[in-house]
Amino acid sequence: MMKISEIVVASNNRHKIAELNTFISRYFPDVKLLSLADIGFFGEIEENGATFEENALIKARTIASLGHVAVADDSGLMVDALGGDPGVYSARYAGEPCNDEKNNDKLLFNLKDVPAERRGAKFVSVIACAFPDGKTLTSYGECSGTILLERRGDGGFGYDPLFFYEPMKKTFAEMNENEKNSISHRARAMAAFAEKLHGELI
Ligand code: IMP
Repeated sequence: MMKISEIVVASNNRHKIAELNTFISRYFPDVKLLSLADIGFFGEIEENGATFEENALIKARTIASLGHVAVADDSGLMVDALGGDPGVYSARYAGEPCNDEKNNDKLLFNLKDVPAERRGAKFVSVIACAFPDGKTLTSYGECSGTILLERRGDGGFGYDPLFFYEPMKKTFAEMNENEKNSISHRARAMAAFAEKLHGELI
């Protein structure tokens, strides 16, 4: 059993930080949230893992090794017709530096001959939490949808404008924050994570 008073959200992606902060404050209202800047961390963490889980753990462990409890998400889009690509390369699909516009263009180009009924995809998120003593927890979430022929909506980030979620008949970019946060891969991974971490806390 342990007690946690602070959690560092180990991400530099402002959209992800906003989503993670929403979930952590919902599930752990007494825990103070810190950003990487709050702890004076301005470095780059090299994500050279082969899986979402490895990359999430790399990020969380890097910060935990500095003496903090850290939570990180590694996530991406897996498209059936592309054999699961862009997968762990989602952020830099169209090359470095990361650019959502170009990534979406590349995705549309690579799917240009794929008909609507074969454009299935899923967003995947792995949340990793690491503790200064070396202990780690991970959890997984996914959300299935299809890739549209053109962008719709201007909310969110990344591949949101192309990712259509059938039950709400909207792309992620057409949803408001509450809608996206009720069904997204990250929401599902965070719910699983909260259950695991609550089991460890007093
Ligand atoms: P990471 O920061 O290495 O985990 O990269 C995640 C990448 O996956 C992002 O840059 C996006 O391209 C994509 N991605 C992950 N989650 C989402 C989401 O909720 N909406 C849209 N794109 C996402």
